[in-house]
Amino acid sequence: MFLQVNDLKVEFSTEDGVLTAVDGLSFSLERGRTLAVVGESGSGKTATILAIMGLHDANTRISGSIHLDGQQIVGARASTLRRLRGERVAMIFQDPLTAMHPYHRIGAQITEAYRTHHKSSAGQAANRALELLDRVGLADPRRCFNSYPHELSGGMRQRAMIAMALVCSPDLLIADEPTTALDVTIQAQILELLSDLQKEFNSATILVTHDLGVVAELADDVVVLYGGKAAETGNVRDIFYRTGHPYTHGLLASIPRLDQPRYRLDAIPGSPPSLTDMPSGCRFNPRCLFASTVTDDLCNSKAPPLKAIAPGHFVSCHLDSERQKIADRLAAQPEHGEHS
Ligand code: SF4
Repeated sequence: MFLQVNDLKVEFSTEDGVLTAVDGLSFSLERGRTLAVVGESGSGKTATILAIMGLHDANTRISGSIHLDGQQIVGARASTLRRLRGERVAMIFQDPLTAMHPYHRIGAQITEAYRTHHKSSAGQAANRALELLDRVGLADPRRCFNSYPHELSGGMRQRAMIAMALVCSPDLLIADEPTTALDVTIQAQILELLSDLQKEFNSATILVTHDLGVVAELADDVVVLYGGKAAETGNVRDIFYRTGHPYTHGLLASIPRLDQPRYRLDAIPGSPPSLTDMPSGCRFNPRCLFASTVTDDLCNSKAPPLKAIAPGHFVSCHLDSERQKIADRLAAQPEHGEHS
């Protein structure tokens, strides 16, 4: 497995005590595949990718393991992480205007990223930058090379940012809400570009998003995060067509459907849990419409384990064992299903 995350825990020390942003998360990713990490703000998406990038401050405690092509990232030396970040892992940010240096031309930023990790002359690095700017579909790569970030449109800037991320041919690409700041038509073009480039570079991609429309376009596999834990994981068809977790149902019910013009959007009631005040039992229980159907107050008292409901499809919810209990009860009644 190219990327293997096991039992990842990310904790922050604060004045209010230790807060757990990610709690026992596990997933894996092969080269050539895209894994979407989905969730609302505060679900642990950002803490997870920062842990994978080895970008965390002294107040953060990380446990568990993250292996990238066999290399352990948790606890690795700063120099190893710096090398990995440049040569093997790259990131595409939501807003290139804040991610790029405003006073440096695009070309200078891309060539610097290349020369930091490759022994090359300025001319070779410039050629590589121009090649990438052309590959990401910028109509006039040389003009873009010589421009400052603010001189380009939002879509052009995002393409330049993708060129910068790909300049060192990374094995793992992390795209953090890559289309959120763009117009809908530009979004579609950027998604198509990301999909094409992923095939061409055969990189593993982690797509961080709250947008299930983007997931449907790009992802092979999905991790739905809630309150720092995996609520559901599976391939994209499992998540969309054999949904197992009430939270995933809620996310799906809250996206607009063009095929159903009179479709009513159902927002998930309540708000995501606070790290300082996690609900007991299942973290979704204060917002879950099904919590009252589970017996023995289990949803309030016991955290549901992540269990397989089909090969490769895992759900963390007591409903499945509740359905099993009902089936067992019915099966134990001898007259069940018999007609006198
Ligand atoms: Fe809802 Fe209970 Fe399932 Fe949690 S465990 S998602 S509260 S039914």
